[in-house]
Formats: sequence, C-alpha cells, structure tokens
Amino acid sequence: MPDNLSAKLFRPELLSMSAYHVADAANYIKLDAMENPYSWPESIQQAWLETLKTCALNRYPDPEAKALAAVLRSSNAISEHAGLILGNGSDEIIQILLMALAPQASVLSVEPSFVMYKQIALSLSLNYCGIPLREDDFGLDLPAMLNAITALQPALIFLAYPNNPTGNLFDTASILAILAAAPGLVVIDEAYAPFAEASFLHLLAELDNLLVMRTVSKLGLAGLRLGFLAGNPKILTELNKIRLPYNINCLTQSTAEFALNYGEFLLDQTKDICQQRTVVFNALQAMDQIYAYPSAANFILFRTLDISADQVFTALKQQGILIKNLSRQGGVLTNCLRVTIGTESENLAFLQALKNALNQ
Ligand SMILES: *Cc1c(COP(=O)(O)O)cnc(C)c1O
Repeated sequence: MPDNLSAKLFRPELLSMSAYHVADAANYIKLDAMENPYSWPESIQQAWLETLKTCALNRYPDPEAKALAAVLRSSNAISEHAGLILGNGSDEIIQILLMALAPQASVLSVEPSFVMYKQIALSLSLNYCGIPLREDDFGLDLPAMLNAITALQPALIFLAYPNNPTGNLFDTASILAILAAAPGLVVIDEAYAPFAEASFLHLLAELDNLLVMRTVSKLGLAGLRLGFLAGNPKILTELNKIRLPYNINCLTQSTAEFALNYGEFLLDQTKDICQQRTVVFNALQAMDQIYAYPSAANFILFRTLDISADQVFTALKQQGILIKNLSRQGGVLTNCLRVTIGTESENLAFLQALKNALNQ
C-alpha cells in the first residue's frame, strides 16, 4: 500500500505497479538474463584498458556520440539515409518513444512479450493493449492484430523479433501486413539479432513508419547499457529532443567503439552460443516431461509436463542453477521456464540438474 503522501502525489497507474524485479544471482550459475557467458581474451582486455586512458572524465561526453554512431552504422549495415539515435540501453529508447506520444495515445504489442513495453507505457498513463499470441506456437494472431489496429488506432506498435520470452521469429508476411495497416509507428525490436539471421533493417528505406531497435546487450555488452534506434530521420529528429543530451557516457562510448572495432571475438562467441543452443534444445526435446519451443535467440522457453514449473525451478536453484520462472505470469506461460544459453559446461550442469529435478 502506498503511503498517504505518495497516494496524493502520484498517478494511480504508478501506485499499482511493481518495480522491475531482478533476482539476486550471487553464487548461482546464472542462466536467467540472456547474457553472453564469456569474458574477453586477455590481450583484448589489455588493449581496451589502454583506450580507456584516453577518456576525458572531467569533460562531458560527445552528446551525439558521433564516433560510436559511425561504428554502429558500419557494424550493423545501417544506410546513411536512415536516422540513428542512441540510448542508455534499448530500455531508454522504449522510454523516449513512449514519452514522445500524445496523452491518451494507444500502444499495441503482443502478450507474452518484453515486459518493459507495458511497464513504461503504463507508467506514462498511456493506453496499452497486448494482443495474445496464438497458444500453440506463439505466432502472431494476425486477424486479432488487425482488428486491434482498426479499433485503437495505435500510435506505436512494438514487436520483438525474435520475441522474448518465446524465442520465435514472427511470420514476415504478417509483420508486413501490420506495417501496412498501422496508422502510426511500428518498432521492430531486434534485441536478439546476433542470434537470429533475420532482420527488418533492409526495409527502412521503403517503409517510413518502420523503426528498428537493437542493443549490444545480448551480443555480450550488457554492462555497458547501449541500444539504438534506426529509421525515418524526420521521426528521429523529433525523438532526439526528448533524449537527455549526455545519455551515453564517455566510458560506454569508447568501450563500445573499441569492442565493435575489435569485435571478431564477440562474433565467435555468438556462433558458439548458437551451436550450444542446438545442443540444449535437442537435450530438452529428448526429455518426456519437457516441451521445448524452437528459438532464434540465445535462450530457450520450455514447458514442464506432469510436474509444476515452480517445483522444477526450486529444485534447479537448490542445485545452484538460476533460470527464469515465467510460470508466475500465468496464462499461456503457466508452467513455462526460460533458460539462457551459457557455456558448454554451464549448459551441461543445467541439463544434469534438470534431469535430477524431473526424477525426484
Ligand atoms: C533484453 C531486451 C531488451 C533490453 O535491452 P537493453 O538494451 O539491455 O535495455 C529489449 N528488448 C528485448 C526484446 C529484450 O529481450
């Protein structure tokens, strides 16, 4: 219950929300947050420390992060005709997009999906609507999406591609139909692009209501907090007015620039994670008390059959393995757990612990 002062001052939507919860992972094998499990090779770490010496901590950083923006453009093949803005994580970009909307605007997404779309929309008193995904394969329910577009005239539609927490890529034709029907902007959130081999970036030149958002977090730089949004320069010029001038600090600017310039090792790590994804998926599929959903991301969603996910989650924790329990969200996620792909030995430890949990 909020205290009297809070109740008097703050919006009711805010008072009824809870803060984004992050589990304490100390002493666990951490497979809950889609992080890259690898550290940097020693030689690269040394070279990075040398570049950090050039950061002028007494000065404000470049407000446009020009050098970093140029590297992001080339490493992601973003055309010079597209606009680009950078955020303190793509979370901040979601916030910038939503803060720019008119009061009472509608925001559309799907359920289940990335929780920050709804969380930030509600905190800004926007009208959020989440259309359920198809229950069998977590695909888009296109007729329901088109009906919602007609009824709500959403200013903004978020689609995570691949989707979190389900891991699948939505059907391209359905997304194109949504782009064609939308009266406002459609943000394709490509947070898992490094693992997906699919993208809408090449369509930016053709569709002026399409924006593509990406992040370096899942690639292996989650600690930096850096995301970006590419698309129609006229739209991005307006959004840039809401962005705080120094939102990308100088340590992030120079570290990200360095990491992307010397980023071969990150791509190697990504390849390894994709191979391990196949290993983990096959092992999960071979367990009869588990149904695993195919994934184009660095995690796998799975459902427990004949045993509760809560029980499995707790048994894994007791064996030192932390994954994400989505079962508490209810609905289609009842008895669903999500495991992030780790190193080979972490994955083996997880699979063994899961077998133990199922045989209890
Ligand atoms: C992890 C994630 C993000 C957040 O990325 P940050 O850049 O770390 O803020 C955005 N969208 C989706 C779908 C994600 O899963």
